[in-house]
Amino acid sequence: MNSSSYFSYKDIYIEDGRKVLEVNILPEKYCNFDCVFCPIGRSQHKTDVQRSFPGTDNSIVELENNINVLDPDLIFVNSKGEALLNDRIDDIIDLIKAKGKTVRLFTNGYLLGRSEYMKIANSCDEVVGEIKGLSEEDFQKLQRPIEGYTLAEYISNMATFRRQYSGKFIFEITIIKGRSDDPGSIDKLKNIIREISPDKIIVAKVNDKRFEKKFSITDEKLEEISKALLNNQHCNC
Ligand code: SF4
Repeated sequence: MNSSSYFSYKDIYIEDGRKVLEVNILPEKYCNFDCVFCPIGRSQHKTDVQRSFPGTDNSIVELENNINVLDPDLIFVNSKGEALLNDRIDDIIDLIKAKGKTVRLFTNGYLLGRSEYMKIANSCDEVVGEIKGLSEEDFQKLQRPIEGYTLAEYISNMATFRRQYSGKFIFEITIIKGRSDDPGSIDKLKNIIREISPDKIIVAKVNDKRFEKKFSITDEKLEEISKALLNNQHCNC
């Protein structure tokens, strides 16, 4: 019996003149973290081992049809959790590349230091990694990663990946109210940015309505911190 497709899509949108098709390639949340402010909710599957899901063949056929019909310039693989945990992700990336499209992968970034995942991410044109908690305590308490994970390893995994990656590495920083919006945290972030040396930085705040009161900074604060971090970028040439 054929299982039905489980990929889901956002409506096509335009970004910097490019037509973007955003696709989720997980049937439900599978992630190596279980962040308290996760928009998807609590994790039933906290794992860093790839899984196979029924319906992937049909999902890949559906993706191909959508690419044919919608003709996007860029496919953004942005999933309900850690997309690298789908054991067919390399087939999905290969399909997108074979169609002559640009592929961008969103990952929380922890697994990028492991050779098997690094190899998969290397085949993408663009990779987005992120950071939220800035102290070991916040990382453990707010992001609830798999036991044994550390913030230092998280950062060094992204830095290791970046050093050998020839595509565009985008680093998304989420500022958390009362935790990473003070001058000490901004200095810490400047050092992390230096260590990872991304091609592009996105500074964000917690946007989910359910968590805004507790974790979200104001737009003015976001602008102020963005300026401080973006002005810190140096030319590496
Ligand atoms: S890393 Fe992203 S998907 Fe995973 S638990 Fe945190 S917010 Fe949710």
